[in-house]
This record gives sequence, structure tokens and C-alpha cells, in this order.
Amino acid sequence: MSQPIKIEPDTAVDLGDFDPDFHAGAADRAEAEAELDKNVRAMEHLASRLYAEHRQALLIVLQGMDTSGKDGTIRHALRGFNPLLCDVVPFKAPTETERDHDFLWRIHREVPARGRIGIFNRSHYEDIVTVRVRKLAPKRAWKLRFKAINGFERLLVHSGTTIVKCFLHISKDEQRERLQSRLDDPDKRWKFRVGDLDDRKLWDNFQQAYGDAIGRTSTEHAPWYIIPANTKWRRDLVVSRIVRETLERMDPRFPLEEEGLDGVVVE
Ligand code: ADP
Repeated sequence: MSQPIKIEPDTAVDLGDFDPDFHAGAADRAEAEAELDKNVRAMEHLASRLYAEHRQALLIVLQGMDTSGKDGTIRHALRGFNPLLCDVVPFKAPTETERDHDFLWRIHREVPARGRIGIFNRSHYEDIVTVRVRKLAPKRAWKLRFKAINGFERLLVHSGTTIVKCFLHISKDEQRERLQSRLDDPDKRWKFRVGDLDDRKLWDNFQQAYGDAIGRTSTEHAPWYIIPANTKWRRDLVVSRIVRETLERMDPRFPLEEEGLDGVVVE
């Protein structure tokens, strides 16, 4: 069986059609880990060129259900990006001040500057998924946000930012196992939130809202990728491939040397 990873624009997305166990051309764990290492090294080098070039930026958006592995993806697949040039930005429920502004206000402040990489751990997509499913705003309010998001992302792209959006797709059974192991393992219990169980009860509504959001906001300029994420090493490999290929396409270059430096000796 085959399934697309990259979602083409104007595609109706039903997450039920996407297998969270899809092999994605990676059948063997040892081979996958070797390829991941190579990708990480390549990404490290490309990121330093991006930093030196100081013309473009890369924004990586990570979304997924609770326990889908957003933190793990950052720790493993994206580990080559050092803090000099990369910021990880988690988005939690908005504060009162944030709620007093439009929903993109807090997002826009955190987008990566030229030469940098930004990783969003949750994002403005909470405002069309979580807000919709938990009924935190009326339909007429969140419905307007699809267009706002597409316009906002186009603005970023026109300003030199490349955007990659990854949905980490796990199954409901996999989530049960991961939540249970958070409860059972004293070293993991800190990650468990009672609210996760409430969201789990709304699983189908979240799947539908995510499918809808991905279908309506996967664009030429800011594509979505649906990552089969039941198996962690496969998830990391697939994300590393996407980010590496994206950076290669961006093709950042070290700036041209300053004139007249040939032969200069530092005393
Ligand atoms: P995480 O699960 O990301 O590790 P938390 O357990 O603190 O971190 O969860 C963050 C919570 O904030 C999630 O339940 C998420 O749905 C919620 N959240 C993030 N952004 C928004 C938003 N714009 N509106 C409502 N809830 C949000």
C-alpha cells in the first residue's frame, strides 16, 4: 500500500485514509537510523549556511494529538540545529493578554528572523482545531481563520521564509498505550495531564477538524505533510528527509568573500 506524505493543495483530507503505520519506504530500523544520522549532519551544515547567508528563514510547524511525539521529533529528527540559529517555540493555551488580541498576534512575534530556524511546537493551527473541537469560539469566528492563515503564511513566504508543516499521525490505540505508559512510569508521569483524557474522548472530532484544517491550508507556498508516527524511528526519519530536502531546495550559500582578503595574514 502506498500513501502520499505531502498533501497537494485543494485536497479533501480524511485522516482515516492515512495509515499511521505506513512504512514510507523505511522497513529496517538500523538502516533508518543510519540514514537519519546522515540527514542530521547534512541539516546541521545547511543550517549554518542559512545562518551565514542571512537572507532566508525556515519555519517548521509541528502539530498532532497528545503523545504524537512532537517533543521527541525535535529531540531526535531536528537535533542538528543548534541554539545559536534555532528557536523552539511551544504554544500553550493563550494567556489573557494574548486573548485580547487577534489569534495571529502571538504567533507573528515568534516567527524566525532571517538566517534562523523556528520550530513551532503547536501553533496557530490550535486556533482552528482545538478551538473548534472544544467549542472555545463560535463557528463564525474560527471559520474566518482558514483564509487568515493562508494569507499570513503567504506573507511570511514573500518575506523570505520557507514553511514546512508536519502533522504527526498516530492511531487511537497507540495513544492509549502512550498515555498508559505515562501513568505507569514514574519518570514519565509528569507529562500526563488529566485534560489529555478529555481530549481523547473527542478523538473523532479532532481527527475530523485536523483533516479539514490540513485540506484547506495545504498550499503551494506552505504545504502540509502527514507523517506516519506510530513508530518513532520511522517518524524521525520521514521528518528528517522532508526538512533536509527543504533546506537543500532553499540552497543557502555562504556569503561571497569580502574583496581583497586573499593573502592577508593575521599577526
Ligand atoms: P504539550 O501537550 O504541547 O506538551 P501542554 O500539555 O501544556 O503542552 O498542552 C498545551 C495545551 O495548550 C494543549 O492542550 C493545547 O490544545 C492548548 N492550546 C495551545 N494553543 C491553544 C489555543 N490557541 N487555544 C486553545 N488551546 C490551546
